[in-house]
Amino acid sequence: MEKRIIFATGNQDKMREIRMILSDIGIPILSMKEAGITADIVEDGTTFKENAIIKAKTIMELTGDMALADDSGLEIDYLNREPGIFSARYMGEDTSYDIKNRSLIDRLEGVPEEQRTARFVCCIACALPDGRILTSRGTMEGHIGYEIKGSNGFGYDPIFYLPEFGCTSAQLTPEQKNEVSHRGKALREMRRMLEEL
Ligand code: IMP
Repeated sequence: MEKRIIFATGNQDKMREIRMILSDIGIPILSMKEAGITADIVEDGTTFKENAIIKAKTIMELTGDMALADDSGLEIDYLNREPGIFSARYMGEDTSYDIKNRSLIDRLEGVPEEQRTARFVCCIACALPDGRILTSRGTMEGHIGYEIKGSNGFGYDPIFYLPEFGCTSAQLTPEQKNEVSHRGKALREMRRMLEEL
């Protein structure tokens, strides 16, 4: 059977970022949809790493292929690292990010800049057909802004202010974001591990 990697996500925005970063790995990367897999995976881990491993293992066991999965989210220090592993589920999966982002800005009303620190975290897990599990982690540090800005990226990008760029991650080009993002860092670390296999 031809070697291929299934990436355990149904999120097209993420798939685009993943393809850009892993394009030169020499192994075709398929989304679950492209591989014809539908699986409702219960992410009941308590950390990003546990959830990434749950997803990668499930897909590897279903397909027999090498499977990659990521679990990511936004940690806001002032809110005790909320929404964290519940980032996608915050206020309900179907609630728009415009509403979620406004809610987070409202919850930080009156909170000064130095207490608005936040980070995006991404853990990647790779489940190999021989049972081995590889994991990597990346973070991107920033602040929660005072308003919604920018239309690139997805999710919480329009409220995530990056001091070194003077704008939000939704105002970066996809290439700029990949260079500094939590997912970019974790994927490049994973790429190095896969190249050494
Ligand atoms: P996951 O698909 O379970 O990993 O959930 C990740 C969630 O975290 C996404 O649905 C977004 O809400 C948020 N998130 C993760 N990475 C990013 C990013 O790069 N930009 C904006 N939001 C992100």
